Amino acid sequence: MSSQKGRNIRIGIIGGGVAGLSAAYELADASNAQVHIFENEPSIGGLAAGFKGRANWDWPLEKFYHHLFTNDDEIIQLTKTIGAGDLLQIHRPTTVIHYQGKNYPLDSPRHLLLFPHLSLPQKLRMGFVLAYLKYHPRPPWRAFDRLLADEWLARRIGHTAYRKLWQPLLEGKFGPHFQDVNLAWFWARIYKRTPRLGYYRGGFQAFVDKLGETGRQRGVTIETNTPVHSVMPLPTGGFAVACRKENPALEQFDVVLSTVSPGLMQRLAPELPDGYLSQLASLRHMGAVVMTVALDRPLLTNTYWVNVPKAEGLPFLVLVEHTNMIDPAHYGGDHLLYLGDYLAPSHRYFSMSKDELLMEFLPALSRFNKAFRPDWVTGAWLHRAPYAQPIPTRGYADAIPDLRTPLPGLYFASMSQVYPWDRGTNYAVEIGRRAAKLIAEDYRQLDVQSWPANEG
Ligand SMILES: Cc1cc2nc3c(=O)[nH]c(=O)nc-3n(C[C@H](O)[C@H](O)[C@H](O)COP(=O)(O)OP(=O)(O)OC[C@H]3O[C@@H](n4cnc5c(N)ncnc54)[C@H](O)[C@@H]3O)c2cc1C
Repeated sequence: MSSQKGRNIRIGIIGGGVAGLSAAYELADASNAQVHIFENEPSIGGLAAGFKGRANWDWPLEKFYHHLFTNDDEIIQLTKTIGAGDLLQIHRPTTVIHYQGKNYPLDSPRHLLLFPHLSLPQKLRMGFVLAYLKYHPRPPWRAFDRLLADEWLARRIGHTAYRKLWQPLLEGKFGPHFQDVNLAWFWARIYKRTPRLGYYRGGFQAFVDKLGETGRQRGVTIETNTPVHSVMPLPTGGFAVACRKENPALEQFDVVLSTVSPGLMQRLAPELPDGYLSQLASLRHMGAVVMTVALDRPLLTNTYWVNVPKAEGLPFLVLVEHTNMIDPAHYGGDHLLYLGDYLAPSHRYFSMSKDELLMEFLPALSRFNKAFRPDWVTGAWLHRAPYAQPIPTRGYADAIPDLRTPLPGLYFASMSQVYPWDRGTNYAVEIGRRAAKLIAEDYRQLDVQSWPANEG
């Protein structure tokens, strides 16, 4: 493409989240690539970033609850490659569903059989359907892309069992869009879920920082506090990237990879052809609101994760007691809870103050522990993300924009394109690497030494 052989190829990456950092790490393997990451926030990590709530915490806690599944091979492999394998620890915490005021573990066939609110035939039928989805040797997920999860599950599992257990969870995650979600996404959730979970010593921030540091050692420049405002194609080839709030700057790149939301991508690169812009515009998503609460004692007994169906009438969808998986000693003895929900970015939770939300959330905690009193609370932190969960509708496979945009040299890799998998750090690594490989294919003069793409 536009760069001449022999000179350095300048690659600009918008976003220092896991996808941008993974792509940068791969691209920096080429000795003639100059890779520059622009990150809007003061620190790297994006949705997986942590915050240090108090000085006596050993390490930062994720703003949004995070763990890995033990089959998250892409991120586990990268963790080892960058020399952070010793940080990853595997846990087997308890996950439950909150149903009619009580918590029931449902993460194994035995637990499903013990669930008292369904008859034995209903449980067996549900068990068979879930086993079909989880263990099918060649899952027809492409056909699932054309089916709606709501309709299919109600028919196969049976209306009563579906309405009791699965519809509330879909509804919680996708709100008014739950009936539009396709079966491929649901299949991928069941297929990938593992009861054992991974977590980094030092939090996900430790992994992110190590990835950033390893990239820097390979020559990657990471500029934080540097929002990109526009990406304009140049008549001579390459792009002008306008960035920074103060002292605005214009920098030139041969290649640009953007890892931001589809909505922001439309605004950054309005010169993209209409067809691609309308593909970006057609992608829908939910936002996330997550309150972290510190208590002076545990709320739950040995339970890490509680799914809270909307029908329970509580003000949040999920309650995660992080310190029932990770020792509270790492957080100065704080017992840390997340109270979270997926909501449209126009929802009132996005404009309420932390104290207003706390007033709304705290009374619900006595549903999980009758002894709970508000004076157990010693701290609270609120985080919100307007782009947190893509909504995979029917026929989504055809709606996904290509990573190669129609403007040669401009690439786009976001959470909305990791389908059928549910978004996650594993897939941020995967899509970052995939974008890097495409760039290497298109710019053959990049002298990449070790990529699998160039070996084959
Ligand atoms: C509530 C919640 C729970 C989750 N739980 C898990 C979990 O348990 N396990 C798991 O693996 N994953 C989980 N995830 C998903 C995971 O965090 C994401 O899939 C992953 O971090 C996405 O990485 P990314 O790089 O694609 O995007 P992002 O992390 O969104 O990175 C994009 C980056 O671009 C930056 N940016 C935005 N605009 C600009 C601009 N104009 N200029 C420059 N930079 C800009 C942002 O600041 C950000 O750093 C969760 C997410 C949420 C919201």
